[in-house]
Amino acid sequence: LTHHHFDHSGGAQQLRKATGAQVVMHAQEERLLRDWQGDAPQDIDIPAEQKAIAEQVQRFRRQAAEAAPDAAIADGDVLNVGGLALEVVHTPGHTLGSICIYLRDERALFTGDTALGLGTVAISPPPHGDMRLYLESLERLKGYDAALMLPGHGRPVQDVARKLQELIDHRHEREEQVLRLLADGTTTPRAMVGAIYPELDRRMVPMALRQIEAHLAKLAEDRRVEAAGEGEWRVRG
Ligand SMILES: [Zn+2]
Ligand SMILES: [Zn+2]
Repeated sequence: LTHHHFDHSGGAQQLRKATGAQVVMHAQEERLLRDWQGDAPQDIDIPAEQKAIAEQVQRFRRQAAEAAPDAAIADGDVLNVGGLALEVVHTPGHTLGSICIYLRDERALFTGDTALGLGTVAISPPPHGDMRLYLESLERLKGYDAALMLPGHGRPVQDVARKLQELIDHRHEREEQVLRLLADGTTTPRAMVGAIYPELDRRMVPMALRQIEAHLAKLAEDRRVEAAGEGEWRVRG
């Protein structure tokens, strides 16, 4: 499993039962998979008032939690499956235990939610995600010289280097935007969401907020911004 999210782990237990296959995932994901009632952000944010869908998501998460891994895997492990050598690449960011799988013989890279074929993935602030690690992960993937990227969402991508660069550039542009807003006196994540995504569907606001907070956490670590009390931020002078 590339990570614990139910849209990637759901059905793994059924597959294991039907085929005798083993389920493996990074050690940092197992607790999150088991803790299906926990508050770890998922790929899809369902507002509580959409009760039927929220309940369905809880059922999916409970079912996914049955796929407790047979073994933990770590960066650099090579899994031999049916004559194929699958290299584990630990790519924290979207979640801290996210992995990609590189099939070196085919130069094919399975990226889970670390790099999507369409759009950008949600990155939460620590402790659930990490924007700085996410950017480092994307940089590292560029070094694999993959000829084909097979993402968890979206279509396969052939120009892998260009796609990875596009994803990196997008985050850097967003980061600059956050810095500009701060400099212009927009000091809270909520106000930034309004400025960056003016047309945003109300249901998407929590996800957008986490995204901005993830950027601010990275910028704080880079010592470019600092907290200015009560949910406010400022550029470090
Ligand atoms: Zn996903
Ligand atoms: Zn995910």
